[in-house]
Amino acid sequence: AEEERPLRRPDWLKIQLRTGPNFTELKDLLRGNTLHTVCEEARCPNIYECWENRTATFMILGDICTRACGFCAVKTGLPSELDLQEPERVADSAEIMKLRHAVVTAVARDDLKDHGASVFAETVRAIRRRMPLCTVEVLPSDMGGQYEALKVLLDAEPDIFNHNIETVRRLTPKVRAKATYDRTLDVLRFAKEYKPQIPTKSSLMLGHGETWEEIIQVMDDLRAVDVDIMTMGQYLQPTKKHLPVKKYWTPEEFAALKEEGLKRGFKHVESGPLVRSSYHAHEQAQSTDQK
Ligand code: SF4
Ligand code: SF4
Repeated sequence: AEEERPLRRPDWLKIQLRTGPNFTELKDLLRGNTLHTVCEEARCPNIYECWENRTATFMILGDICTRACGFCAVKTGLPSELDLQEPERVADSAEIMKLRHAVVTAVARDDLKDHGASVFAETVRAIRRRMPLCTVEVLPSDMGGQYEALKVLLDAEPDIFNHNIETVRRLTPKVRAKATYDRTLDVLRFAKEYKPQIPTKSSLMLGHGETWEEIIQVMDDLRAVDVDIMTMGQYLQPTKKHLPVKKYWTPEEFAALKEEGLKRGFKHVESGPLVRSSYHAHEQAQSTDQK
């Protein structure tokens, strides 16, 4: 294989340290507590902004994934037993953090018959019971494309159903493990058909070697299954063992892609080098509320 030198990380990806009263309060609350957020564990660059807006992401169903995607820093292996206290613990955290928008994501649990759907649904309900005003976004795996499992999760009526397409069709086999491009579209199509009132959302990571035309094709494919919200951000290599970055898309290109997305009828598009799936998610929950 050809040896490629790693690309230099451009200046626009350097994060400016920012802070504010909400961020400081949450940081203090979590110190000395056993609460775990993806925001902290993934060292997400948006943590200042999200926490200021009282948005946070939790990962459930353990921290070991049955898949091994080439971009993802989550550990792979045989997951531990299900923790039935998890839904209440996440709800505790959401309450302590006084969240306005909670994102619940999970590792892929291909070892479980229902792919973890019941624990997922219970987590949504536990947050709802405790925090009726907090919007809840779910970001599940494709659950093996099984409609029965997806129904269990959708019956909990999340405010946003988010399922990431991650990359363009051509690069999917290289970038994602087990997931397929068409199954992802089918999961999004099914969610919209089963619960038309729940906004659907999907994210694309740029930088794996995709072309402009391929990105536009993803937009058209997502719109064809009536996806409402799209986000695009720059892929960053978590460790040297993960896929290398093939291209750093510029802020201008991200802005132009946002325009392309809006032209195609998405209700909300977030696009920028540091955009992550749940970035500005509280605004999306609000902007889709009134449709
Ligand atoms: Fe947390 Fe998601 Fe915001 Fe990052 S983008 S800080 S993971 S809520
Ligand atoms: Fe990471 Fe999700 Fe892939 Fe598992 S399925 S390796 S958590 S991206």
